[in-house]
Amino acid sequence: MTLTTPAQTEAQTEAPAPASLPPVVCAPWCVDGDGHTDARFPEDQVCRGETVEVELSHRPLVQVDEDTWARETVHLYLLSHPGALRTTVEMYRGELGETVSFAVDEAEALGQALLQAVQSTRG
Ligand SMILES: [Zn+2]
Repeated sequence: MTLTTPAQTEAQTEAPAPASLPPVVCAPWCVDGDGHTDARFPEDQVCRGETVEVELSHRPLVQVDEDTWARETVHLYLLSHPGALRTTVEMYRGELGETVSFAVDEAEALGQALLQAVQSTRG
């Protein structure tokens, strides 16, 4: 007699796992780093960097859950599709904000402009 646990019984009734995709070469900054073999489609094998969040301290609080309020944030991360010739910096505000996509040179120009603006306020 063989005893089975509920987890074993459940595993036997699940559909077979789909075949995994061959790995892509990840960018050195990719948080996945294993070639995205668990993606369902080749176009989903996308390298994504770690998300940086900047809290907007002067903005009103926003509701993030029932009875939960937090400061709004700006998010940015690196993104590169397999075979793409360039990496982009993706930036959006809030949880559902429209994403703005910058080429790396554009992101650098924006960063320098922000830094100059900040430095001009500090004399
Ligand atoms: Zn990757």
